[in-house]
Amino acid sequence: MRAIDLAVDRTGLLAAQASNLDLMRAAVQRSRTCTAVQPYAGLLTPQRLAEAPLMTRDQLAAWGSQPAAPNRITTGDVRLVLRSSGSSGRVRTLLHDRAFNERVEALGARGLCLDGLGPNPFVVNALTPGDLFGGFGFAEAVLARRGAAVLPTGTTLPPEHLAELITDLDVAAIVALPALLHRLRAAMPAELARLRCVYFLGDRMDGAFAAELRAGGTAVRSFAYSTTETGPIGYQCAHLDGGDHHLHEDLVIAEVVDEDGRRLPDGVPGALAVTVLTETGAALVRYLVGDRVTLLAHGCPCGSPARVLRLGGRDDTSANIDGTLVTRDMFDNALAAHGVTGSSAYQVGVSVEEGLFRLALAGTAVAALPADAALAALRSHPTLRKVAESPRFRGLTVDPSGSLPRTTARGKVPFFAIGGDHDGQS
Ligand SMILES: [Zn+2]
Repeated sequence: MRAIDLAVDRTGLLAAQASNLDLMRAAVQRSRTCTAVQPYAGLLTPQRLAEAPLMTRDQLAAWGSQPAAPNRITTGDVRLVLRSSGSSGRVRTLLHDRAFNERVEALGARGLCLDGLGPNPFVVNALTPGDLFGGFGFAEAVLARRGAAVLPTGTTLPPEHLAELITDLDVAAIVALPALLHRLRAAMPAELARLRCVYFLGDRMDGAFAAELRAGGTAVRSFAYSTTETGPIGYQCAHLDGGDHHLHEDLVIAEVVDEDGRRLPDGVPGALAVTVLTETGAALVRYLVGDRVTLLAHGCPCGSPARVLRLGGRDDTSANIDGTLVTRDMFDNALAAHGVTGSSAYQVGVSVEEGLFRLALAGTAVAALPADAALAALRSHPTLRKVAESPRFRGLTVDPSGSLPRTTARGKVPFFAIGGDHDGQS
């Protein structure tokens, strides 16, 4: 299995991908433990991969805690155990082997864009340490590999101390969840604006907030598009922003599929299924990571042969309000006339008391929206109307502060905030 220098042409990149898929197929076929994938190992070719069954998060959750799970090509040699909540709320345990972790860090480092930061820059790692969450350690390792001087502050350093650190050391960049960046903008706007780059990881970045930072001269970049299970899937060059990422195509095959696993044409949004090309550890074949994405038909101005994937919303952004199943898409569509898009940062809070419920909109994308206009917009939507006209509905408020109040234990902002936290994944 080899990661290549991405300065090749498209033919070279696809050749590397095909050769790594060959290695994976051979490894699965000779494995004594990969009994779940072995029956269809013959489909692990560029021509036939689309015929292989999809692998779901529930399936992986069930396998995750078993060192000898039926999708492990090799067992033993564990270096890192990662845990994250599955969509069902069940704790999923992931055993990453030493070789896989090496590659996670190498791909993260290969993809990270450090343009404009100079050699050996100070970079604050303000991700959440602990909780067996991989993001903090990932950022530490990736930055160190690229020669940065990492300041592992985590999330508990008081903002005034962080502000002092940034000024005293002339810190070049920070890595943080978007929710923390919002709080830092409120607590230390001048120091945040001093940074040459703000990296976000683990959640979507609000377009308006990013534009504001850029207007002040700070670059805004995704640190990586990576999940706990798969490792890095995509990276952002200096020409990409928002949810757009180049794919690590030599080691990851990304497909955009419909509900039946059929490949969708370029430009059509669907579910992301990735095959992580590996000879060790777990076999992830057409694994549904839980994101809605689009493969862009056009290339990137940077000239890279690696295709560009645009992240849409997560597929679990749905909720049951007063017996009606609603989704983020419905709110995006209802509020589109007010400038809300699929990449806007906002949140729908639902508070229920004795069977009666209230809605609260929060976030920069809706801060200036009058509550009666928001309510009229919801009433104009065929499904949301059921909610807004329910006899149990007790009103809607809009938080004018622009802040996103309810975060999960890891600081992520779920789209629907209903009766306490529900956790997402990285
Ligand atoms: Zn590019």
